[in-house]
Amino acid sequence: MLKGKTALVTGSTSGIGKAIATRLAAEGANVILNGFGDAKEIEALRAGLERDHKVRAGFSGADLTKAEAIEGMMAQAAKAFGGVDILVNNAGTQFVSPIEDFPVAKWDLIIALNLSSAFHTTRLALPHMKSKKWGRILNMGSAHAKVASPFKSAYVAAKHGLSGLTKTTALEGATSGVRANLICPGYVFTPLVEGQIADTAKARGMTEEQVKNDVLLAAQPTKEFVTVEQVAGFAAFLCSPAADSINGAELSIDGGWTAQ
Ligand code: NAD
Repeated sequence: MLKGKTALVTGSTSGIGKAIATRLAAEGANVILNGFGDAKEIEALRAGLERDHKVRAGFSGADLTKAEAIEGMMAQAAKAFGGVDILVNNAGTQFVSPIEDFPVAKWDLIIALNLSSAFHTTRLALPHMKSKKWGRILNMGSAHAKVASPFKSAYVAAKHGLSGLTKTTALEGATSGVRANLICPGYVFTPLVEGQIADTAKARGMTEEQVKNDVLLAAQPTKEFVTVEQVAGFAAFLCSPAADSINGAELSIDGGWTAQ
């Protein structure tokens, strides 16, 4: 379905991003991985995608909190792959603390990574997409792009901001074949959530088991974590012709969390 397209998936060395990169490669897209982690494991992932799906796969270790590093990554993508057709702004991080104690450096980090990085990749990817009259921008929102939870001020602010960026991008690209949408998962069991369970337990004085059942899945009516494969399948659908008229939407995949 996506043969001849190139997908850049930020934060794809782990969790949701890794599953999306793998799924888009399975659909025939060349992929550019990005993120941190063990160099050998990342190379094994990159080489595995090429071997298993007969596509080209690249990697950029750009730190997305830095605009210059993003510019370097996008230049590398243009040189090696001719440009980015599918941009998945997925990299993100979380920090849990009451606002009055929220470390300023953590606020700045989360806004830079979860919000500003998507502005930079988008501004640099749009000219190529518009010239091709085709582009897909998938921003990784969250149920927290629609509703808040206590102690997650920076994350909730960044995800709500990403929703605004998505809608603006959707309007600006609408007549040029570019589609921008916000995927809003509920709780997906990934390393990010595992870390959050420990942090929330500390912040609320609970055991990790209590946090899992009484805090996280309490909000999710299905009482099941969303899987990375479900999010990846949804991302692939949004790149398909069936999704050509979906633009500027906040699309929940949260087991009914935000229906409440
Ligand atoms: P994860 O921690 O498993 O993966 C995060 C990825 O981002 C990793 O590849 C990491 O190396 C990369 N990364 C971190 N800092 C970076 C930086 N400065 N520059 C470049 N890359 C960096 O997390 P995940 O759970 O897979 O989350 C991915 C996205 O999904 C995030 O935007 C998150 O907010 C969103 N999300 C997650 C959940 C969930 O329950 N897991 C729910 C809703 C939304």
